[in-house]
Amino acid sequence: MNVPLLDLTRQYTTIAAEIEPKILDLLRSQKLILGKPVEEIEKSCAFYSDCKYAIGVSSGTDAQLMALMALGIGLGDEVIVPTFSFFATAGVVVRVGATPIFVDVDPETYNMDPASLKARITPKTKAIMPVHLFGQSIDLDAILEIANEYGIPVIEDAAQAIGTQYKNGKKVGSMGLMGTFSFYPTKNLGAFGDGGVITTNDEQLAIRLRQMRNHGMEPKYYHSFIGGNFRLDALQAEVLNVKFPYLETWHKARRENAQLYNKLFIESGITTEEFPQSLSGENRIVLPKAVYKESGVTNYHIYNQYTVRIQNRDKVRSYITENGIGTEVYYPLNFHDQECFKYLGENPSSFPIANEAAKTCLSLPIFPELTTTEIEYVVEIVVKAVKN
Ligand SMILES: *Cc1c(COP(=O)(O)O)cnc(C)c1O
Repeated sequence: MNVPLLDLTRQYTTIAAEIEPKILDLLRSQKLILGKPVEEIEKSCAFYSDCKYAIGVSSGTDAQLMALMALGIGLGDEVIVPTFSFFATAGVVVRVGATPIFVDVDPETYNMDPASLKARITPKTKAIMPVHLFGQSIDLDAILEIANEYGIPVIEDAAQAIGTQYKNGKKVGSMGLMGTFSFYPTKNLGAFGDGGVITTNDEQLAIRLRQMRNHGMEPKYYHSFIGGNFRLDALQAEVLNVKFPYLETWHKARRENAQLYNKLFIESGITTEEFPQSLSGENRIVLPKAVYKESGVTNYHIYNQYTVRIQNRDKVRSYITENGIGTEVYYPLNFHDQECFKYLGENPSSFPIANEAAKTCLSLPIFPELTTTEIEYVVEIVVKAVKN
């Protein structure tokens, strides 16, 4: 059997009849830049993320870049990011001329570890940019307490976490000064190309970001500061407007898939039910721990990825691949080990959890349209591979 890591055509089939006439209308109108479709998805995202303002932009990466630009961060400044994340989180810091400072992650959630964060704050720290990795919230109480103590703004990288709730029931992206989201096709709410959104509750920031996305222009051809072309396409916005009402149902399907995986892996005997799990003894595989599951909120984890840890990962992965199952390693090389960041002189031994995660993490298929038969097959093959 072949089970792809992600099959976007299955989802497309379910919404094609709705989406195709809308796109055709847009093409015939030739109203391609900003306008009504962008305003509509901005309204939906602001409401959905418990935020007053949402600004549609060209990508999740540009959303992060703009957040740093809006705070005037540049040469001589430091921005603290987790070392285990997608590259954009660190790349944007260097692009504004600042220095990324890396911190280790928590062994249960792979999110920024608050204690490591505190140890790296200096008078030069101008922002903290934690990541809600794989679709699960960071420990916002702990991180905001540290940030508030030092008066440092928090930019939430919520690229993988649109709709994720923290244990207090609030949506991610609404608790820091700004939240940045991606509509890259593999995210839970994906466009048919690139796109992103920034959320904030700060009116002045919202005005600045809106102006920034159009070269800082206001009024037309008058520029009081330098922005860029960070606009969200009307066409992408129209796609998102059609998809948006289905988002909760898709989150739910992903969560149910994750629950089925967990149940089957535990029944197979290659892991125990007890958390925290560690990769030793009976635990040949470590399941993703949904840390806020017991808090009563619904979207405690939206499973943009279902990521397990496995000993001898690369050997196990080869076997799984040979048996037709798509997997991915998010992420095989931490920021502190990337060639382009060697100049920072970070000591790799300062990040033991992230180092282990990079060696053992494996993401399995989790998309909403996955069938029970496919999940059972994935578990069967993974269990065989692990026991070999
Ligand atoms: C996808 C992603 C981004 C970047 O989003 P793009 O829309 O691809 O630019 C940033 N951070 C994280 C954690 C991501 O997963």
